Amino acid sequence: MSASLERGLDRFREALDADTASFFATCVRCGMCAEACLFYTETKEPKYTPIHKLQPLKRLWWREYTLLGRIAAAVGLSKPVTDAELSAWSELVYDSCTLCGRCSLICPVGNDITYMIRRMRDGMAAAGHAPPGLVGATRRAIELGSPMGVTLATLQAQIRHQEEATGIPIPMDVQGAEYLVLLSSMEIVNNAEVIGAVARIFHQAGITWTLASDAFEATNSGIQIGVSELAKEIVLRTVTAAERLGVRAVVSPECGHAYMALRWEGPDLIGRPYRFEVLHILELLDRLRAAGKLKLASTFDLPITFHDPCQIVRRGGVIDAPRNLLNLVATDVREMHDHGVYNWCCGGGGGVSASGRAEELRLTAFNKKRGQIEATGAKVVATACANCRMVMEEAIDHYQMGVELKGLTELIADHLEQETPEVAA
Ligand code: SF4
Ligand code: SF4
Repeated sequence: MSASLERGLDRFREALDADTASFFATCVRCGMCAEACLFYTETKEPKYTPIHKLQPLKRLWWREYTLLGRIAAAVGLSKPVTDAELSAWSELVYDSCTLCGRCSLICPVGNDITYMIRRMRDGMAAAGHAPPGLVGATRRAIELGSPMGVTLATLQAQIRHQEEATGIPIPMDVQGAEYLVLLSSMEIVNNAEVIGAVARIFHQAGITWTLASDAFEATNSGIQIGVSELAKEIVLRTVTAAERLGVRAVVSPECGHAYMALRWEGPDLIGRPYRFEVLHILELLDRLRAAGKLKLASTFDLPITFHDPCQIVRRGGVIDAPRNLLNLVATDVREMHDHGVYNWCCGGGGGVSASGRAEELRLTAFNKKRGQIEATGAKVVATACANCRMVMEEAIDHYQMGVELKGLTELIADHLEQETPEVAA
């Protein structure tokens, strides 16, 4: 057995905690998780059934931790998990799973398949079977602080452009600011207008905020690749900066899994509670709305729908805030069928969009979202995740759907009253 396979199988054994063992033991093989997964519904290939994606991990559990399995192994009726098998499963664990959580929501016995896929990725990465695109992104996140290799100099150049465009200074490393705002590399590179949008909204609302030069990146590639040690290192970077600056809250940007990683998994990863609150940007904007601090000058009047990012809505619990904000600014809001916690993934979450080899499958899986969007008749899709936005823009272009994408933060900023109060010192 190679050293990497041995390492991977050891990580599988560590993943087999009481939760995982009880999930495997209670699966009634009803197949309902298949109909919950866009990779199955859009291909009808049985191999994309969520629980099947866990087969090597399940087999190791059965062989080594159940009486029947141990007897079968002893008499040669059960074969050990091989490197070739893990290699074949790499596509199922990485390319055809966005960690969207829909299967976990639907499973009638409450099996958290998404949690198990995360745990299985840990062993797959240790065995050398993570996709090269995701391995590269994780390495850049650790070495350079950003999965896309975005440096502080790049951010500073984008900040200068946004300061020129808005006339509002964008604060960096301000001790004692109320809010530390994080950004995703995707926003900095593809969509830097969101930095100006945040500056305009916060300036009008009169709240103090800052970026941190040593922790501006929200993306957590460690979560996507499934390696907890790396995920912890990335979370700690933000925690250290937030505590050094003494902020009241850290604001997670329009990025799905960044919010999940920092808000819901971070304290467990670092082994202690935070000394600050974590808010998704939409949660903060909704608080400003409720406090009467979002003053709009105009409305958005084209038919618009909202794509619920899985990690923010289904798994993150931010359900009402985007709808409150959309209904504030838009006059013709159309909900998709299966919206909110039942919404379907864009097909590119959980690191799938970082894996070049997954592109064709991702575009096929997008047909689920395409049907949802087209049924609304909306001309514009708003969302709150830069990754969803990039994945959907590419697919909408591919299928020539003639629909425009908008970030909700920018949509609000575009309709603000121009007159702005002075920012408090
Ligand atoms: S939905 Fe749950 S019980 Fe049914 S096959 Fe999938 S994991 Fe098993
Ligand atoms: S988490 Fe989402 S993409 Fe992954 S298996 Fe479950 S339903 Fe499919």
